[in-house]
Amino acid sequence: MQTKPILIVGSMAFDDLEFPVPVRVADGSTQTAFKDVVGGSATYSALAASAFAPVRIVAVVGADFPEPMLEVLRDRGIDTAGIERTEGLTFRWKGRYHTDLVHRDTLDTQLNVFANFRPRLAAGYGDSPLVLLGNIHPELQLEVLEQTKNPELVVVDTMNFWITGEAKTLAKLLKRTDLLIINDEEARLLSGIHNLARAAKDILSRGPKGLIIKLGEHGSLYFDAEGIFAAPALLLEHVVDPTGAGDSFAGGLLGYLAERGTYDHGDLRRAILRGTAAASFCVEAVGTLGLEALSREQVAQRVERIRHLTYVGEK
Ligand code: AMP
Repeated sequence: MQTKPILIVGSMAFDDLEFPVPVRVADGSTQTAFKDVVGGSATYSALAASAFAPVRIVAVVGADFPEPMLEVLRDRGIDTAGIERTEGLTFRWKGRYHTDLVHRDTLDTQLNVFANFRPRLAAGYGDSPLVLLGNIHPELQLEVLEQTKNPELVVVDTMNFWITGEAKTLAKLLKRTDLLIINDEEARLLSGIHNLARAAKDILSRGPKGLIIKLGEHGSLYFDAEGIFAAPALLLEHVVDPTGAGDSFAGGLLGYLAERGTYDHGDLRRAILRGTAAASFCVEAVGTLGLEALSREQVAQRVERIRHLTYVGEK
C-alpha cells in the first residue's frame, strides 16, 4: 500500500519568543528572548509529517520570508508549490512563556499577508486524501476544504483566538471535521463546560467524529464513538521551546495515518503515539530546529519509550 499525500494549510510565520529561563545558543552564550524565529502552524506540521509521508503546503508568505527555509522544506520532500509569496510582511506572532513552560501569553498577532489571502489550491492538490486544516482563520480552513474532492480524512486544529473571535465559522467547519485537535483550555472554551468528559461529549455532538484533547506535558486524550484513549507524554529532561508542539503532534499523527491509509480507532491510538513522539523532538530546540532532520526511525524509538511508560506486563 502506497503512502498517501497530505495537504496542509496553516500559517508560516516569524515568531518572537520569550522564555522564563536562559537558553544556550550555538555560540555558547545564553538568551531568554528570540526574534524572527521561523515558525507557523503549517511549517511545524509539515516538517513533522514529512518524516512519514509526502506533504503539500498551502500558505502565504511575505517578501521577507527566507528562501533557505523553503529549501529546508523541499529537502524533506515537501511540495512548496502551494506557498504563495506576495508583497508585504509575513504573519507574525509574539509569545511569552510562563515559568512552567506550558502556559503562555500571546503578546501580539499580526496577520499581515494572511489578511488578504485567498487560498487557491495548486494543480492536483484537491485530490489529497488527507487534509490537515492547521491553525489559521477558520474562513481560510473552509475555503481550502471547499476546493478538495471528498478527502478521506479531514483533521482540524484551532486555538482560543479563533474560538472566541470566529465562533460561527468554526461551527460550520466542525460539521465537516473528522478529527478535531485542541488543548484542554480550548475544549473548555469551545464547549463552555469545565468537566473534560462532558466537554468532549458536547464537542462530538457538534460534528467531529473524533476529538483529541491535548494536555501539554501530561499527554493527550482521544474520544470517539468507541470510547476514550489516554496517551502519556514523554517526560523530557530538557524542554527548551514548546512553540509548535501542537502542530508537530498533528503532523506526526497525520504522517502515520497517511502511511497506513486507514483511520480506525486502533490506527488513531497508534498515530497519537507518533504525534506525541514528534512533539517531543520539537520542544527540545528553539523554533523548528528539532524537526528539520527528524526521521521515521527516531520517531519509532521514542514511541517505544512512550509505550514503556504505561506497560504493566502480564499477570
Ligand atoms: P503551537 O505552539 O503548536 O500552538 O503553534 C505555535 C505556532 O502557531 C507559532 O509558530 C505561531 O506562529 C503560530 N500561531 C500563533 N497564533 C496563530 C494564529 N492566530 N493563527 C495561526 N497561527 C498562529
